[in-house]
Amino acid sequence: MFKKILIANRGEIALRVQRACREMGIKAVMVYSEADRDAKYVKLADEAVCIGPAQSAQSYLSMPAIISAAEVTDAEAIHPGYGFLSENADFAERVEQSGFTFIGPTPESIRLMGDKVSAKQAMIRAGVPCVPGSEGALPVDPVVIKRTAKTIGYPVIIKAAGGGGGRGMRVVHTEAALLHAVQTTKAEAGAAFGNPEVYMEKFLQNPRHIEIQIMADTHRNAVYLGERDCSMQRRHQKVIEEAPAPGIPRRLIEKIGERCAAACKKIGYRGAGTFEFLFENGEFYFIEMNTRVQVEHPVTEWITGVDIVRTQIAVAAGEKLPFTQRQVQLRGHAIECRINAEDAYKFTPSPGRITTWHMPGGPGVRVDSHAYTNYFVPPNYDSMIGKLIVHGDTREQALARMRTALAEAVVEGIKTNIPLHRELMVDASFVAGGTNIHYLEEWLSQRER
Ligand code: ADP
Repeated sequence: MFKKILIANRGEIALRVQRACREMGIKAVMVYSEADRDAKYVKLADEAVCIGPAQSAQSYLSMPAIISAAEVTDAEAIHPGYGFLSENADFAERVEQSGFTFIGPTPESIRLMGDKVSAKQAMIRAGVPCVPGSEGALPVDPVVIKRTAKTIGYPVIIKAAGGGGGRGMRVVHTEAALLHAVQTTKAEAGAAFGNPEVYMEKFLQNPRHIEIQIMADTHRNAVYLGERDCSMQRRHQKVIEEAPAPGIPRRLIEKIGERCAAACKKIGYRGAGTFEFLFENGEFYFIEMNTRVQVEHPVTEWITGVDIVRTQIAVAAGEKLPFTQRQVQLRGHAIECRINAEDAYKFTPSPGRITTWHMPGGPGVRVDSHAYTNYFVPPNYDSMIGKLIVHGDTREQALARMRTALAEAVVEGIKTNIPLHRELMVDASFVAGGTNIHYLEEWLSQRER
């Protein structure tokens, strides 16, 4: 096992990885930007190295700064967390070329799955169902583009091969709007992702977002850890996640889970990964794979009893998965609310000093956060400052625990979205379960009226 790991991230996930290291008897090196210098999780680390100014481009996204921090501290492996460099194949490659272990898949896997066109083609070959669409990237010939859309049937969605974070997508309802939409998306994709390639998919009208967590080792073992329902989204950003997904028959989950695990074996995948699907009328449609730990991993940890971060570290060190598919048994229900430093209804960011941070506890309550009373939320990064996760024997119990937990939570000095979560936890449709990906935005626009 490693003696020392460098954590190339910040905030709650940096603390989460640090906790796993502690538990495993591994020393944790934290890198930090000047904006994070005073954070407690940085002080708690065995060693900490400043890697640059607040701007991510010069700190958390700086490959040379992170690799030299690993060199000066004699770390053996680098955990990238999520976001920042976690899905950057060049980074994974440079980490390994510099003699460190990258805690994640191979650069080849990241590259394959990072390009949505090649990812989709690999999944079709592996027998994973995909959204009907163009065969690979769209050509330039307008006649072919129009014919493709006609075959798929309107509405269609034009998506950038290199897109991510909900950007680089455009829905088209009529042939009249098609060519212009393709051109605009191409131009935007070229500017934003350095890759103008786009492809076309059928636009599903009312799907749910269901994802499968997988875990694979370097001994040809791959296991799926059930599913998560992440349909409560705003602007393609997840707000609430839960596991299992309400109302989906287990045999459907098992069937798709087995396909995902088989696909991992086929592409030689290692580490943690998530297959994201749209789910409509009883069918799963693959949209993309995330080759890293997800924000919402705790809900899966709770219903399976598997420590995903610990397992990531173990398989990166060459160990076999400590469980088989048969040993993965689901228990109860878990729900996660993302706590963001933002206005609960206008969504404007609200960085600044937290004057009171009082988090709930009790049976079935978990708080993953690096925040505390007197913590300063820097304006430079994502607004998520923590996650409140609950577990219950049933979904009803989990909901009741989340309501109690949210009622106990007090955050002062900055605005948070806790009031929004309080409302959603008593909303009849959410409580009934199975809302689609548009539900939250529709709910928000009705609330305004
Ligand atoms: P990103 O990498 O930017 O997150 P995804 O491919 O995962 O992009 O898509 C993000 C979101 O966009 C999905 O969760 C869904 O809400 C919507 N979306 C993507 N593809 C389709 C589609 N074919 N039909 C309907 N909605 C889609």
